[in-house]
Amino acid sequence: MSIQVLDKTFVPYLSEQEIQNRINQLALQISKDFEGKNPLFIGILNGSFMFASDLYKDISIPSTISFIKLVSYKGTSSSGTVITSIGLEEDLSDRHVIIVEDIVDTGKTMSSFIPSLQKLQPASVTICTLLHKPDALQFPLTLDYIGFVIPDKFVVGYGLDYDGYGRNFREIFQIKQPS
Ligand code: 5GP
Repeated sequence: MSIQVLDKTFVPYLSEQEIQNRINQLALQISKDFEGKNPLFIGILNGSFMFASDLYKDISIPSTISFIKLVSYKGTSSSGTVITSIGLEEDLSDRHVIIVEDIVDTGKTMSSFIPSLQKLQPASVTICTLLHKPDALQFPLTLDYIGFVIPDKFVVGYGLDYDGYGRNFREIFQIKQPS
């Protein structure tokens, strides 16, 4: 059944069950890979709040979680747009950081944020994204854990918004192309 968010129509794309099953698998894999490493999960607000919450519930190893917001501002002409974080109070030195992101599209956000995170000298930085649009990727980026590879079409639901709306759905919907 299609849904309406503001002026756009969306069609069902990933069901609640599909999302939850995939999250179980990701959490199992991450728990295995980071056994004994006491990782710190960092959820990127606002979009990843549902994903981070469900993923973290399935993590079975000792670990901590925190949330940050990314803000972009114009740097010097040589550095272009700089992305920095607000809300990060943890000491990252020697922590294995796992970034939890809702979607990597062009990769711009993550590729400009990672260098500023590296300056805080974590033991390692790993990216876990629920969705990835490889066709839209423009910035070099290694994604360690990917929930679903999706086509380059706008999606909403499960934390992802269209102009602030649509985050509350348990499923993910894809924009309906004009017929
Ligand atoms: P990037 O910097 O990788 O191009 O974009 C990442 C951000 O763009 C995501 O965190 C998300 O906020 C937004 N974004 C990219 N594609 C979509 C999409 O299909 N739907 C929604 N709701 N947001 C998107």
